[in-house]
Amino acid sequence: LQASEEARVTAAAKLFPGIKRLSERVLVQGLGSRVWDADGNELIDFASGIGVTSTGHCHPKVVEAVREQAGLASHLQMSVTHHDRALQLIERLEPYALGLDRFFFATSGAEAVEGALRLARQATGRAGVVAFRGGYHGRTAGTLAITTSGIGYRGGNAGPLPYGAFFAPYPGLGGDKAYCREQLDLLVKQQVAPSELAAVILEPVLGEGGFVPAPHSFLKHLREWCDAHGALLIADEVQSGAGRTGAFYACEAAGVQPDILTTAKGLASGYPLSAVISKAEIADKQPPGCMGGTYGGNAVACAAAIATLDVFEEEGVLDNVRKQGARATSTLNTLKAECPAVVDVRGPGLMLGVEFDKSLTGFAGEVSRECEANGLLALTAGVHEACRLIPPLIVNDEDLDEGLAIFADAVKTIAD
Ligand code: PMP
Repeated sequence: LQASEEARVTAAAKLFPGIKRLSERVLVQGLGSRVWDADGNELIDFASGIGVTSTGHCHPKVVEAVREQAGLASHLQMSVTHHDRALQLIERLEPYALGLDRFFFATSGAEAVEGALRLARQATGRAGVVAFRGGYHGRTAGTLAITTSGIGYRGGNAGPLPYGAFFAPYPGLGGDKAYCREQLDLLVKQQVAPSELAAVILEPVLGEGGFVPAPHSFLKHLREWCDAHGALLIADEVQSGAGRTGAFYACEAAGVQPDILTTAKGLASGYPLSAVISKAEIADKQPPGCMGGTYGGNAVACAAAIATLDVFEEEGVLDNVRKQGARATSTLNTLKAECPAVVDVRGPGLMLGVEFDKSLTGFAGEVSRECEANGLLALTAGVHEACRLIPPLIVNDEDLDEGLAIFADAVKTIAD
């Protein structure tokens, strides 16, 4: 049943104005890499619910698993009993978990990051956390305290944020690798003593802050740097994880094992599920009772995650990410060669960032709006002039090419 136009406009006006969105369209349906609005207009979805619909909208295997679980039990609570789906999911996730072997399930990325920060502080008995400028980790108090991808997320007057956040430049965005290494060394001489440092948290591919991959050599250096200072390395893979970059986790491609990893978004194809995954010797320092949450590890979401992994394994999703990522990169590089407004095209995989000349203020936003008007959902990223293209990981040639064509036309129109 669809609401009348009048009712929709009235309801939309009652939303908190603090929610910002790309488009005022009202969507009613999605299938694969496409969505439809209430007026029947079809759009290609390169936003994927912000990197969430990994197997596309309504993959039959995910729909079937959700239906089955919804008919088996309504809610099974992980602080009351074990439940079968969560235990099955641990078995399925462990082979991808880079040797980490303790799991905590929550519902959102921010909750997972909060859990990771708390765990690091408890395990080390230290409070300080180094995060990277341009990073995004969530909108809860603890995660906002380490989020610097844009001042708009704080919204002003948010109140005092938790103590203990220190910031270093992200390589490629705040300087080259050598400069970023130096800044880390200065940080423990100027801002926080190593003995007070619980963790360094990093997105291996910077997401909201601009879609910038950290060089693998920098990630390796960070691993050694953390070990030298007795700090834990937290990889926030909420956006880069669950296959988005062509490896299941981006750290895997760098050959780096974090101490703690956070994952969410594409993990359950759209159902609310996140996880903190940790080395046993770290997680096992926590006393019982300090980790929990009413809905964490929801059985329907766990069933969706298991079905998502089935799709990954049976349909070669990671191969598709690498193949389509390479095709998209090549098309976008052609656009770069034709259009001087485009200054950089970045991957890896289907975590695609396109950066425009920084003198063109507002360019990325205009491109995004032009795409929307022409049938493509494509988001901007960070305070720099960048768009991000994050189609479902199952995207096929036809949908990818059609979406990229709309994007290229939009860039050329705005540049004209
Ligand atoms: N960490 C990263 C790297 C993210 O990209 C996000 C969401 N964009 C979060 C944490 C927060 O996740 P959520 O919105 O599910 O709380």
